[in-house]
Formats: sequence, structure tokens, C-alpha cells
Amino acid sequence: MKNIKVLVCGASGRMGKEAIKAILTAEDLELVAAVDVKHSGTDVGFLVGLEPAGIKIFEDLSTAIKIAKPRVMVDFTNPQAVLKNTKTALEHGVHAVVGTTGLTDEELSEIEQLSTEKGTNVFIAPNFAVGAVLMMKFAQEAAKYFSHAEVIELHHDEKLDAPSGTAIKTLEMISQVRREAGQGHINEYEKISGSRGGNYQGMRVHSVRLPGLVAHQEVIFGGLGQTLIIRHDSINRESFAPGILLAVRKVQELKGVVTGLENIM
Ligand code: NAP
Repeated sequence: MKNIKVLVCGASGRMGKEAIKAILTAEDLELVAAVDVKHSGTDVGFLVGLEPAGIKIFEDLSTAIKIAKPRVMVDFTNPQAVLKNTKTALEHGVHAVVGTTGLTDEELSEIEQLSTEKGTNVFIAPNFAVGAVLMMKFAQEAAKYFSHAEVIELHHDEKLDAPSGTAIKTLEMISQVRREAGQGHINEYEKISGSRGGNYQGMRVHSVRLPGLVAHQEVIFGGLGQTLIIRHDSINRESFAPGILLAVRKVQELKGVVTGLENIM
């Protein structure tokens, strides 16, 4: 029985379409609206290559919420739009599942405050692929034994934010258990600015953007006479669908803002 009404924001985008496909084919979920600044009025079934679904794309989120009355909003838009969309959902009493990356700490605090005020929940995941969550867990385990680590994340060249949300989450998780260590040579210098990547508490992070890539990450640990590489590859966006569905099903039962798929698996 279809018992959770869902709205997808960013419906015309790569991830939005994947979310729509997954929700349309899930037995217990009902897609009631879709929102995007593009393709207003287009049937979402047509947009994702399925039969017409009788649901047209709205341009305005508030209007879509008022008309379709969803219980859950899924957001896959961009770092500039996600805060406003999430706040709009919460203000209307709609729980939010946020896949869009790039929210700042200040924006997160704003969301937390509003979520408490309205008694409406938010689930945020920098990565909905189960393999990526395991990669982060394994990296955290390895960091107890290897204190020298660098992260290389690789994504398609349409991605706006760098480093990826997954890379930041990985670095945070590693730093919770890792012994402080100076990395690289104390006198190292860059002949081309940025060559050594971003610096997160002494660990380096490198962002590769190329056509042909989807979402990939390597965590490389170095120790005396050995290296350990933990790698995850999303070879297509279907890898995110089970995680998105799980989040949509669970978000109503959470309390406030919860971040990370590992917390609902
Ligand atoms: P995308 O293809 O650019 O899709 C985003 C869509 O949202 C576009 O159609 C965009 O239109 C639209 N949009 C922009 N502003 C909007 C607004 N205010 N209201 C409604 N729609 C709006 O991007 P994507 O590859 O799907 O990625 C979306 C986000 O998800 C990114 O932040 C990405 O990093 C993240 N992501 C997360 C995961 C995860 O597992 N958590 C996995 C992959 C990607 P325009 O093109 O006209 O701006």
C-alpha cells in the first residue's frame, strides 16, 4: 500500500530523476509532486523514461507543497538552493531528506534550529550508497593504526562543490580516531599552487573532476614499508536508490536532524 507521500525537489537533475524512478516503483511510496526550475509542466514519468505518471513538474516549492501535501521532501538541487528548500519544507511541516551536498556549518545550525522549532525531521546524507558508507567506516577503523592518510575523491565535471561531502565526512571520521601527525616534508612547497590539495587537520584531500566519472573515492593510508588503499566506486546513480528509499521511509521516525546513512541502516 502506498502510504508515504513524497515530493522530489531538483526533479530534472541527474539525482532527482534517479530518486523519482525509485519512488515511482516503490510499493509503499507515493510520488505526489516534483519541483525543478527546469521543465515546468512536464510529466515526471516522461522525464525519467517511464509511462506518464500524471504528475507535472512545479517551478515553485511552496506551491507544490500546498497543492500536493507531501509528508517527505527529497532534495537533490545545488548548494545555493538547498538551505531555502529545506527551510520551506520544515516551515510547512514536511520532513526533509537532503542529498544535496555543500551545506555550511552555519546553514546546518539554522536547519537544526528550525527543525526543533517545527518538530519536523531532517535526514542528511553526503552519500546514499551503502558501499560508500562502508568505505568511510573501514577508513575510520584503519586510521586507528595508520595516522598518515590522504583522500582522493573523483566526480563528474558538473559537480559544483569541492571537496565532496563524502570526502569531508571521511576526514571528520578519520580525525575522530587518528593520532595527530605531521604529513609530508616539513619543508615541502608547491611549484603549482594547490598541488598538495586541501588541508584538513594536516590530512590532504584532492578533488578530480572529469567527464565519464560518476562518484568515486580512495582513502590512502601510509605506514612504515606499506600502504593501504580503501576505494569505493559508484559506477552509476542506481547505487544511491536503496539508500534514498530507506531515508524516505525512516525520516518521520527520527528526532530532529540526523546525518549519515550509517545512522539509519
Ligand atoms: P544536477 O543534475 O545539476 O541537478 C540539480 C537540479 O536541481 C537541476 O535540474 C537544477 O536546475 C535544479 N535546481 C536548481 N535550483 C533549484 C531550485 N531552487 N529548486 C528546484 N530545483 C532546482 O545535480 P545532481 O548531479 O543531480 O546533484 C544534485 C546534488 O546532489 C549535488 O549537490 C550533488 O553533490 C549531490 N549528490 C549527492 C549524492 C548523495 O548520495 N548524497 C549523490 C550524488 C550527488 P539547473 O540545472 O537549472 O540549476
